[in-house]
Amino acid sequence: MGIFDKFSTLKSRVDLVEKLGVDPFGVKFDRILNATRGLIGNKEIILAGTNNYLGLTFDQDCIDASIKATRKHGTGTTGSRIANGSYDEHVDLENALAKHSGMESAIVFSTGYQTNLAAISTLAGPKDVLFIDADSQACIIDGCRLSAAPTIRFRHNSPADLEKRLIRQGEIEGGIALVVIEGMYSMFGDKAPIKEFVEVCERHGAFLYIDEAHSFGIYGPTGCGLAEEEGVLDRVDFISGTFSKSLASIGGFCLSRHKDFEITRKAMRAYMFTASPTPSNVAAARAALDKIADKPELRENLQARAEQLHAGLTALGFDLCAPPSPIIAIRRPNEMIAASEWNWLMEKGIYVNLAIPPGTPQSSSLLRISLSAAHTIEDIDLILSGFAQLRQESELVMARAQDALAAQ
Ligand code: PMP
Repeated sequence: MGIFDKFSTLKSRVDLVEKLGVDPFGVKFDRILNATRGLIGNKEIILAGTNNYLGLTFDQDCIDASIKATRKHGTGTTGSRIANGSYDEHVDLENALAKHSGMESAIVFSTGYQTNLAAISTLAGPKDVLFIDADSQACIIDGCRLSAAPTIRFRHNSPADLEKRLIRQGEIEGGIALVVIEGMYSMFGDKAPIKEFVEVCERHGAFLYIDEAHSFGIYGPTGCGLAEEEGVLDRVDFISGTFSKSLASIGGFCLSRHKDFEITRKAMRAYMFTASPTPSNVAAARAALDKIADKPELRENLQARAEQLHAGLTALGFDLCAPPSPIIAIRRPNEMIAASEWNWLMEKGIYVNLAIPPGTPQSSSLLRISLSAAHTIEDIDLILSGFAQLRQESELVMARAQDALAAQ
């Protein structure tokens, strides 16, 4: 038995997708020119799958802050904050996040993934019960796996199903119920009915944790996310998020309306036993947070472009997974067709995400687009003309997929 034998099914699926052209999961850009354009060789590609929602990765203030922090504190922290201490960038960003959201406590992590891993696994102990949405992102599931608490899944975006399960669970002896949902879901771009979830949690004394990775910076009058948009931010116990999307950096954060959340710094293994984010990353996120506060026009442009693209794709007859949002997912019949179309779009200079099972909800095959406030009306027209051409040439693209299958 070889150590890699267990990956043989995965390998044959990857091989099949690779037969269609470029490996969609190993794209290498030779240069990123700005928030909406990259180069592969000399070929310019329009970027429509980066999660760079506010387009701030090339914002001059974010770049300057990042360089300044590197010059001041060096390229890395080389250790955890518990063991090696914090830098003023970490503390300043935590204070700014707490102030911006009106929360009592904010903790910064090295990635968004680690945020959920650390917070969920620590907040739910052996006597507690976790309730999570059936379409939860991998790091929520992994946080639950690391927790000593049992995990119960409820139907996607269904406060009624959550309520049924909370009632069935009944009183938790010596423990609490922690409900985990997302704001906007990363694959379909659909939004949770947050107010209804808040009400169910309040009725049953459950704590509510919302991952706003894809909605922070994008929704709400001050960009705090969907809980703010629905006017219930002060009734949510925990909000997590990432710096890798609208905050144009890398890292993550968890906010809480409970001051006592602070104690968990000394209990969260994925915070304590890993290096803290670099001064450069934290300073860039800090500068991006100021933009979120000061530039509501970024959110407005993003929503306008989302509506433009959504309307255009709908007119072309594409089956879209959710109403307009910066994530627009197009449902495709199967992974071979999706992968062939993805390759065809790449050839035309349009980069979107290919999302195929097992990482997708309902085992769907998707062409997933994520938009940026930096996209212009003309950029969206360019993307739409690519999809219009794809529609016209769909038979050719299908034939390509079939040839690849036949060669199996
Ligand atoms: N939460 C959600 C909902 C995500 O989709 C992701 C990753 N895209 C993360 C957390 C993890 O964020 P990061 O990339 O910062 O690790």
